[in-house]
Amino acid sequence: MAKEMICTSCGYKGKPKSITKGSILVEIALWLLLIVPGVIYSVWRMASRYTACPQCKSQTMIPLDSPIGKKLLAEQEQVVTKEN
Ligand SMILES: [Zn+2]
Repeated sequence: MAKEMICTSCGYKGKPKSITKGSILVEIALWLLLIVPGVIYSVWRMASRYTACPQCKSQTMIPLDSPIGKKLLAEQEQVVTKEN
């Protein structure tokens, strides 16, 4: 199970989304037509994979148990308390 993380941009709390650039269809087509570009494309896609916030798509998700994560969480809870 993935660790819960917090987004420093929008404050989203939860699991980050794994985003892979490119397309699986292009990858399959390249593999079928030409093996070498298929390998290169697969390696590029794997290398460019990153975790992003599912809400704002920023690459600013940090672990909740990190010092900044804890601080953000505490600030969020304060806001919630004020709103209620
Ligand atoms: Zn976000």
